[in-house]
Amino acid sequence: MTREDGRPELRRDPLIGGWTIVAPGRSRRPGGGTGARTVKGPCPFCPGNERLTPPEVWAEGEKGRRRDGPGWEIRVFPNLYPALAEAPSAVGKVGRRTLPANGYHEVIVHSPHHDLALARMDPEPAFRLMRAYRLRYRELCRRPGVRQVLIILNHGREAGASLEHPHTQVFALPLVPGAVREELRRLRRAGSRGCPLCAAVEEARREGRTVLENGSFAALAPFSARQPYETWFVPLRHREDFSRAGEKELRGLADILRRTLRGLNELLDDPPYNLWLHSAPCGEEHPYYHWHLELIPRLAVTAGFEMASGMFINPVPPEEAARRLAEAVG
Ligand SMILES: [Zn+2]
Ligand SMILES: [Zn+2]
Ligand SMILES: [Zn+2]
Repeated sequence: MTREDGRPELRRDPLIGGWTIVAPGRSRRPGGGTGARTVKGPCPFCPGNERLTPPEVWAEGEKGRRRDGPGWEIRVFPNLYPALAEAPSAVGKVGRRTLPANGYHEVIVHSPHHDLALARMDPEPAFRLMRAYRLRYRELCRRPGVRQVLIILNHGREAGASLEHPHTQVFALPLVPGAVREELRRLRRAGSRGCPLCAAVEEARREGRTVLENGSFAALAPFSARQPYETWFVPLRHREDFSRAGEKELRGLADILRRTLRGLNELLDDPPYNLWLHSAPCGEEHPYYHWHLELIPRLAVTAGFEMASGMFINPVPPEEAARRLAEAVG
C-alpha cells in the first residue's frame, strides 16, 4: 500500500548523522500526527473486527479457530499504516543521503479485552505476551536485511497511541538506530572495566534507586533519569540478546512490568508512557551489550531546550522518584 502513495524512505541528517523515516502513508492513520481528528468507529483490535486489520501473521488462541476470526488471545498483523515498506530484498536506491526504508512494522494486540492494560493483566497472559514479544523478535531478526528490531509499547494518547486497545508495535529496521549505536559504543568502550548496566543495578541498590527486584530483573530509577519516574528494567543475568531470554526471564519480566506499572497507576493515576526494549543488533556479536527495557511516563511536554540541546531537565530527583514508586508498588 505504501508503494502507491510513495515508499517510505530513510533520510540522513547532514548535521548530526541521524536518520528520519519519511513515510507519507502514516499521515492517514487515526490521529495521523498531522492534526487529523481521531476516527470514531468500531475498534479494529476488538474480536469480531478482524477484517478491519491486515491479515494476521500469527495468533494464539482457541484450537481450531479460523484465521482472522475471533477466539484469539494474542493477535499479530502488519501495521495498516507502516513506517517501513515490506520488501524481501532491498528495493530502491541506496544513496549518499538516503536508504530505502525496507523492513517490517507489526502490531501485537495484547488480548481480546479492549480495556485491559498490561498493568492489570493476570500473570499467565502477561507471560504469554512476553513470549509473543520474543517470538516476533526472533522471527523478524532472522529476515534478510533486518539489522535491528525494536519493541515499543505506547500507552495513552499523549504517548502517541492512536488506538486505545492495548497493543505493542514491533519495528524491524534495515539499520542500527542512533540510540542503540550510542549504547553499543559506550558499553564497548567500558570493556574490561565492566558492564555499565550491571554496575547501574549495583549502584541503584547502594544509592536507594531500586524500585523493585525479583529473581531475574531489577526495576530502577537511572542515576541521570531524563524525566520524572523514568524506569529501567534490567535482566540480572548479563546477556546481549533478548532472543535468548528463557521462560524464567520472561515470567520475571512480565511480573516486574505488571507490578511497576500498577505502582505508577497508583502514584500518578494511569499516566501515559512509552516503554521500549533494546537488544543487540540482529545476528551480530556484541558480548559487552546488555539488553534491557526503558520506560518514560509522559508527564511533561518536551520543549525547545530538549530539542536545542539533546539534554533533559528533570524536576524530580530519581532517588525521590524511586522511593515513591517503591512505596506505591508495595
Ligand atoms: Zn478494542
Ligand atoms: Zn551487564
Ligand atoms: Zn536502551
